[in-house]
Amino acid sequence: MTHLHTYLAQLGNRWDKETGAISLPIHLSTTYAHPGLGASTGFDYTRTKNPTRSVLEEGLATLEGGTHAIATSSGMSAIQLVFQLFDSGSHFLVSRDLYGGSFRYFQELERQQLAHFHYFETEEDLQEKLSAQITAVYIETPTNPLMQEVSIEKIATWAKEVGAVMVVDNTLLTPIIQRPLELGADIVVHSGTKYLAGHNDILAGVVVTNNPEFGERLAWIANTTGPTLSPFDCWLFIRSLKTLPLRIKRQEETTKEIVAALEKHPQVKEVLYPGKGAMLSIRLADEQKVGPFLEALTLFTYAESLGGVESLITYPTTQTHADIPQELRESYGLTPELLRLSIGLEDAQDLIMDLKNALGGHNG
Ligand code: PLP
Repeated sequence: MTHLHTYLAQLGNRWDKETGAISLPIHLSTTYAHPGLGASTGFDYTRTKNPTRSVLEEGLATLEGGTHAIATSSGMSAIQLVFQLFDSGSHFLVSRDLYGGSFRYFQELERQQLAHFHYFETEEDLQEKLSAQITAVYIETPTNPLMQEVSIEKIATWAKEVGAVMVVDNTLLTPIIQRPLELGADIVVHSGTKYLAGHNDILAGVVVTNNPEFGERLAWIANTTGPTLSPFDCWLFIRSLKTLPLRIKRQEETTKEIVAALEKHPQVKEVLYPGKGAMLSIRLADEQKVGPFLEALTLFTYAESLGGVESLITYPTTQTHADIPQELRESYGLTPELLRLSIGLEDAQDLIMDLKNALGGHNG
């Protein structure tokens, strides 16, 4: 195969042989004419398969090093699709620190007595809790918002030993930085809304696997329950993937400059950054300064979400992670002085000045 940059830049190109369109057409048709009785063009009904979505899904599978991909209407619908693979009553071992919406969904499955969730904090903790009773391990690494990392390779080996499926939410690093399937994971999920689509303008989800049995079953469930992404959003998603490697590289470089500046700042007690990617969290020295700091920022937008070209700052306590009970989230470090930053494509020095001005006190 050609290099990833070449592959992504030309994703969808040369598809429309009749007109030579460089940009892939958006196939809005929900239904397709059959050439004859029992015959099909390969496309029958858009819930099952759509030409624009197929190009996107092939691109996503290639990007993650998988064989099967499904593009869904949101990250949460992608996660829900994966959990539909497993029988009710199954036991799952999942990261303690994780996206609040995933936690809310797991709580709901538990409330309906459809599944049992066990939470782990460290690799050692996971090893202790992993047994043949566990159907699947579900991890975020780094976690959202504490940026804690675990080894996908080690956990995949341990999961295999007990026959558990390993699922990784790879939203924060993207396959440009981390490819879980190549490290032994069975299934990767994404909030495509974030870096993959990257422009804060479409809601999307992704499931990728290299296991043909899961791939076929996921496609069957997706066709049965209908969470698939609309053709127009698929087209926007394809367009975004063309610039993904460039965006990630630049956003990561800028993030490293910001981390270096904040680590020296007296108003910042701690910087949580895993050394890669374009997300970081900070603990302010004074919790009372959270409000004034957010209000004083002019380039960072105070909003939930991450991974787009515009820099955002999020307050997990009242936004993304508000559904995790206060006592629980504070017990593992998600405390009220914590803020999460998603670094975009703006100039690094402009962003640093904005942060310093808003933090106040000292500009060194
Ligand atoms: N996974 C992670 C790590 C997320 O941050 C999010 C959303 O913030 C999701 C999943 C859910 O994705 P979506 O908002 O696209 O439904």
